[in-house]
Amino acid sequence: MCWSGLAIPGDPSCSSCQRPFGESGPQGDAICAPCLGSPPAHDGIAAGTLYTDTSRKLVLAFKHGKRIALAPLLARMISARLPESDEERLIILVPLHRWRQWQRGFNQAALLARELEKIGCGELLVDGLKRTKRTPSLGGMGAKARAKVLAGAIEVARPVVKGRHILLVDDVLTSGATSTACVKALKRAGAKSVVIACFARVLDEALDHAA
Ligand SMILES: [Zn+2]
Repeated sequence: MCWSGLAIPGDPSCSSCQRPFGESGPQGDAICAPCLGSPPAHDGIAAGTLYTDTSRKLVLAFKHGKRIALAPLLARMISARLPESDEERLIILVPLHRWRQWQRGFNQAALLARELEKIGCGELLVDGLKRTKRTPSLGGMGAKARAKVLAGAIEVARPVVKGRHILLVDDVLTSGATSTACVKALKRAGAKSVVIACFARVLDEALDHAA
């Protein structure tokens, strides 16, 4: 595994979603075009890596349970990107369908969440969110169709999120449709803030860079 190919999101970055602008990008409190066009429901994205060919291999190995030892490293990479917080966060997972979890053999996001708790990023709340209906794969759908499929599909299972700052753990962040549904459910239940933690974030410009 060649670690030098890993793209680590750096600064300057969007003050809303932490999308990196590249070295020549704007400094200070600049906001990226997608966030300006449609202000996100979340309060930041702490991505361990950007999704490139190298991180894809890393993520696939991790997903298939071959490189479980990567979890501590990935957790540290994520925690380095977390906005500072005076209050302890609750760590909550994006819920998987039971059958998908079974298909994959294990839940890699749960493993990552446990590591994040271990290194002091917050207190893990298992089963904080739940799926209330089975949804088809979102691949190939547009943003509107994804949102429609996910409407009402995710609910807060435990009432303790009220007034809390949440760290929502996902594995690979693509369109963000599922995590957005989770963020909205958490905010409806009274969460003060929701920062998304993922180990790889898919950005078109990062893929271009890797090509
Ligand atoms: Zn942004």
